[in-house]
Amino acid sequence: MKEIEVLNPAAFAYLMEKNLKSWSRAFFQEGKMCDAVENGLSESFNSVIRDARKKSIVTMLADIRLYWQVLLSGLNQFETKNMVDSYVVDLDKKTCTFRVWQLNRYGCVHSVATISFLNRDVGGYVDTMFNGAVYKNTYKYLIQGMNGSNMWPPADFIPPLPPMKKRILGAGSVNENGVDAESCGTKSVHEGQNGEGAQGVGAGNSGSKSVHEGQMDK
Ligand SMILES: [Zn+2]
Repeated sequence: MKEIEVLNPAAFAYLMEKNLKSWSRAFFQEGKMCDAVENGLSESFNSVIRDARKKSIVTMLADIRLYWQVLLSGLNQFETKNMVDSYVVDLDKKTCTFRVWQLNRYGCVHSVATISFLNRDVGGYVDTMFNGAVYKNTYKYLIQGMNGSNMWPPADFIPPLPPMKKRILGAGSVNENGVDAESCGTKSVHEGQNGEGAQGVGAGNSGSKSVHEGQMDK
């Protein structure tokens, strides 16, 4: 954010007006199983890994991990780094200092790089919420079918009526004879302008229904 403030103070002010929790991953709540954030950084990163993204999640991360080097720094704790960045991955706590793993709970490129480096099963570190059994359990309940209203038992309540029809302002213009100019067509408008009144227009074939509607509105 400091870089943005230097580059463009107006953009910085605009961003700071917004709720940080809605757009900045740094302020996302952990354990929400989602790390999605729409910003240019993600877009540019996505363009680099476009081919890998066509694969399933774990295979995709396995492809991207090739850019990362894993160094042992403690028991089940590793420093995973590339040419630019370095993050601490803790396999016991299932955390990475990049924090994406804590947010999505299925892993980040650093965790997959680390797990693959140890020749362990990446799937074993994915949260159980993503298991097929949990999915099936979530969708095991059916939406029950329902009979039509003709089959419903009668009740003493007043049935709800449809709302009154209202003419929307600007949806159609009504001329001085009460004729809806749009629904009558050009012929009706022409006749109205010649001073033939609404009755005369109604007798024509250009839309007696519209004249009726206009009179009703009055
Ligand atoms: Zn990570």
